[in-house]
Amino acid sequence: MELAERIRQVAREAEEALMACDDPGELEALRVKYLGRKGALTLLLREIGKLPPEERPEAGRAGSEAKRRLEGLLEEKREALAKKAKRRALDVTLPGRRPPLGKRHPLTQIIDEIVDIFRGMGFEVVEGPEIETEYHNFDALNTPPDHPARDLHDTFYVEDGRLLRTHTSPVQIRVMESRRPPLRIISPGRCYRNDTPDATHSPIFHQVEGLYVDKDVSFADLKGVIAAFARQMFGPDVKVRFRPDFFPFTEPSAEYSFSCVFCKGKGCRVCKYTGWLEISGAGMVDPEVFKNVGYDPEEYTGFAFGMGVERLAMLKYGITDIRLFLENDLRFLEQF
Ligand SMILES: [Zn+2]
Repeated sequence: MELAERIRQVAREAEEALMACDDPGELEALRVKYLGRKGALTLLLREIGKLPPEERPEAGRAGSEAKRRLEGLLEEKREALAKKAKRRALDVTLPGRRPPLGKRHPLTQIIDEIVDIFRGMGFEVVEGPEIETEYHNFDALNTPPDHPARDLHDTFYVEDGRLLRTHTSPVQIRVMESRRPPLRIISPGRCYRNDTPDATHSPIFHQVEGLYVDKDVSFADLKGVIAAFARQMFGPDVKVRFRPDFFPFTEPSAEYSFSCVFCKGKGCRVCKYTGWLEISGAGMVDPEVFKNVGYDPEEYTGFAFGMGVERLAMLKYGITDIRLFLENDLRFLEQF
């Protein structure tokens, strides 16, 4: 038989054995048997050099093809057997690995909670732009051009004269401009002020604005709404205190506080031993603001209030540094 034919025959035999092989040890034995230094195919390949020159090309082609094919098959089989062994090593009685689940940011959680509470009292959620006109952010809210809040040091201005809103109050104006009373809205959102970051200041922060306009709305309604919110947010024993304050867009204006959630009003470090935690400002909508949006102050009254989302989250979760909210440190975020 010609050498080329003998090579092909040995290759077929080797191929059949490889296909039937089911064990890594046996596979290695087959490799040695056919492709090892004294393997059947190796020995045949060595004979090619001894052939007369005219017979060498055919035998050479048959040899290299057989070798390439068997080596490929060996590799495939090795991988398949390794995979099989791995499957066998798998203990199906072990509990599965839990895929890591993302969570909502603590600020988002607080905003959702605030929104739920006010929705329960019939408030509707409205959003407004973060890049505002000076008119909506200041003028319409009865904040004249010489008011210190408009200072370049406090406000980020955009090149075209607009600005990054410094509070969520401009949403009140946008809603009143486009709708008629009765109105009962809250507006959660991001605000910006040119503050140097420290434990209690952040140039980016969140507020929730509230507005209630109808006939015969009184300060008592405002107190009732804020007290109901405080109890749902921090528990049934929380007390609310209002003290006179000044804001350009409300008259009268008040600062409101909750009894300290840490010491129940007895006095502790967080409340600076006063028993009270200042939350934010509120008041009756100034008649000038109503005039700016075309409401008749003789016909309608209303109240507005704000609240700092970070402040509430810090109180609720006992967080002492506002910067943690924006640093995206997983060790912090995973706690919520
Ligand atoms: Zn306290």
